[in-house]
Amino acid sequence: MEHDLVSPPVLRTAASARAAGDAAERRDDIVLHVSGDAQVSAAIVVRGAPYAGAHGLAATFGHLPIVPNGVKCECGQRGCLATVAAPGVVLAKAELQDFELTYGRRAAMAELAGRIADSEDRARWAWLDAALWIGRALQVVVPTIDPDVVVVGGWWAPLCADIDAAFRDNRPKLGGGALDAIPRLVAGTSGDDLGLVGARGQARDGLRASLVSDVA
Ligand SMILES: [Zn+2]
Repeated sequence: MEHDLVSPPVLRTAASARAAGDAAERRDDIVLHVSGDAQVSAAIVVRGAPYAGAHGLAATFGHLPIVPNGVKCECGQRGCLATVAAPGVVLAKAELQDFELTYGRRAAMAELAGRIADSEDRARWAWLDAALWIGRALQVVVPTIDPDVVVVGGWWAPLCADIDAAFRDNRPKLGGGALDAIPRLVAGTSGDDLGLVGARGQARDGLRASLVSDVA
């Protein structure tokens, strides 16, 4: 199963383009954009310009080795964020592998998002475990680059509050709480990489149609 859990690292991701789009309206800001759709990824945009680093490796968020003694990632490192927060990992923990095999990744992600919104226990637990690690990764990245804002995109966007809570669970208590509110975490507006809107309904319509045809 592990081989399809984690996409190999790429130097520039769709997140960069999306972050540039989101950052266009924040030209004075340093923006960190994170998302977890096709893969766990991030982009840094400094005053409207994507920051890729000396080797194009800046913000390879999914491959931050955040889990102590974690499982081996496809990249060869242990404990990458992607090993605990990639879409395939959350789908597996939510017991949606069979759903994915039948209806595909996009419909499975839409189903997962729907079940989390409905507070279905297993889906919610699977997501909150991922959110905990995403928050912990942000605890490392945010002090490193000190962004004005963290934009949470893709299917994570409506779940931004869970990531925010995980992030703020372990922050410095300095300056009489001056750091408490920074940076802001906001839900992205240009996300929906997987076109999840409507996909869940389509999958269920398909299921209903097949049930009807089985009965007929
Ligand atoms: Zn990795």
